[in-house]
Parts: sequence; structure tokens; C-alpha cells
Amino acid sequence: MKPFKKCPICGGKLVEKEVGKLLQGGKHTAIVKVSAEVCLHCGERLYTQDTVRYFEQIRDKLKRQDVLEFQPLGQFFEVAGKRPDDPVEHV
Ligand SMILES: [Zn+2]
Repeated sequence: MKPFKKCPICGGKLVEKEVGKLLQGGKHTAIVKVSAEVCLHCGERLYTQDTVRYFEQIRDKLKRQDVLEFQPLGQFFEVAGKRPDDPVEHV
């Protein structure tokens, strides 16, 4: 069940946690709660093969707009317009 004993990135200790994963398919986004091995040192999340397959299924459903079984959470926006890193205009 546990594919990793240590974090493959930094060698840190892994703990099993429930995490919220953001998935995108087409123009839709969904959040799913799954359990993952999370590195205590760098925060890397490791998922099992089954979980990765599950993500793929959900991305696919999002792409095909097959979202009736998903619970709407709110709207997803892109923020356009002025950004704080835009160059300052001197008049
Ligand atoms: Zn790590």
C-alpha cells in the first residue's frame, strides 16, 4: 500500500494525510479529497497509482462536462486588469 518510505525529493519523513487536490479539465476545476503521503520536510505529496488514476477519471469528466455528480462550490474566475507588478506610471 505504501509505495514510498521516504520523500524521493529530499529524503524527508512521510506522513499520511487527507489533502485537497485541485484538478483541471478543459475549463473546469474541481477539488477532491484524497489521502496522500506528505513529506514533513518539503511538503511534497505522493499519491498511489489508484489515486492518480482516479484523478485522471475526474479530469476526463471535467473535460467532457460530465459534472452532474459533482457538487458546485462557487464560480472560478480569472482576475484581469491592473496587477501590482505593473510598471508605475509617472505622469
Ligand atoms: Zn521532501
